[in-house]
Amino acid sequence: MIASHLVVPADITVSWSDIAGLDTVIQELRESVVLPVQHKDLFKRSKLWQAPKGVLLHGPPGCGKTLIAKATAKEAGMRFINLDVAILTDKWYGESQKLTSAVFSLAAKIEPCIIFIDEIDSFLRSRNLNDHEATAMMKTQFMMLWDGLSTNNNSTVIVMGATNRPQDLDKAIVRRMPAQFHIGLPSEKQRGDILKLILQSEEISQDVDLNRLSKLTNGFSGSDLREMCRNASVFRMRQLIETSRDQSGSGLGVPVLNRTNVNITMDD
Ligand code: ATP
Repeated sequence: MIASHLVVPADITVSWSDIAGLDTVIQELRESVVLPVQHKDLFKRSKLWQAPKGVLLHGPPGCGKTLIAKATAKEAGMRFINLDVAILTDKWYGESQKLTSAVFSLAAKIEPCIIFIDEIDSFLRSRNLNDHEATAMMKTQFMMLWDGLSTNNNSTVIVMGATNRPQDLDKAIVRRMPAQFHIGLPSEKQRGDILKLILQSEEISQDVDLNRLSKLTNGFSGSDLREMCRNASVFRMRQLIETSRDQSGSGLGVPVLNRTNVNITMDD
C-alpha cells in the first residue's frame, strides 16, 4: 500500500455544498484550482495563469481544512491521494524514499490529482541541525519530486497541505505553496451558517433560536458545532427511549424513533 487512501472523484462524498461560511475561500479555490483544471486547454494559452503546484490550508483544528481539500478535488474532478505522513516517517529511509517516488509517479499517472498531506508540518518542518540525516534527505527528495511537477505543465498534480502550525513549516516548502488560505475559527455569522447546514434535515424544537446559539458558541469550530448538535440529538433520543420505557411499564417497551421525533431543545 503506497498511500493511505486513493479516492476517485465519484467516491468523494463531500462537495462545496457541504461547507458553510467559507464562501471566500471556496471562490478563490474555484479560480485558482478548479477552473484551470476544468478548462485546461484554455489555461494552456497563458503561462501566467496555471493551477498552482502547491496549496496550503492553515488554521486551527476542526475548521474544515480536510473538508475543503476533498470538496475541491470533487468539484474539479480530480483524484485524491490522502497521504498519511506517518507511513513515510515510520519507514526506513530507503523504503520511505521508494514510497515517496511511488506516490508522485502514481499521481502523475492518474492526474488530475491532489496529493493531500494533513499535518504537513510534522513531515516538512523547518530543517535544523538536529535533523536526522535520513529526514533531511527525505525532505530534499520530496522537494525534488515536487519541483518535477512544475516542469510538466500538461500534468495537473497539486500538493495540498494542511497545518495548524504554518510557522513550523520549512520556508522552502512555504515557497512551493503560492496559494495559501487561512481557515480560522468561524465568526458568529459563519457559526450561524454552519448550524443551519448541520441542522437542515433535522427536526428541531420551535424554541431553538439559531441566532442565539451562534452567539453562545464563540470559540467553537465547525467540528465542535457538529459535535454539539450530535450530543443534543443523542440526548433527545435517550429522553424518548426513557419515556417509551416508562409508558410500557416493564422497561421492555420498544421505542419508536424516527427523525420527526428527534428534537434539539435549548436550555437556558
Ligand atoms: P484538523 O486540523 O483537526 O485535521 P480540519 O480543519 O481538517 O481539522 P475537518 O476535518 O475538515 O477539519 O472538519 C471536521 C468536521 O467538522 C467536518 O467533517 C465537518 O463535519 C465539520 N466542519 C468543520 N468546518 C465546517 C464548515 N465550515 N462547514 C460545515 N462543516 C464543517
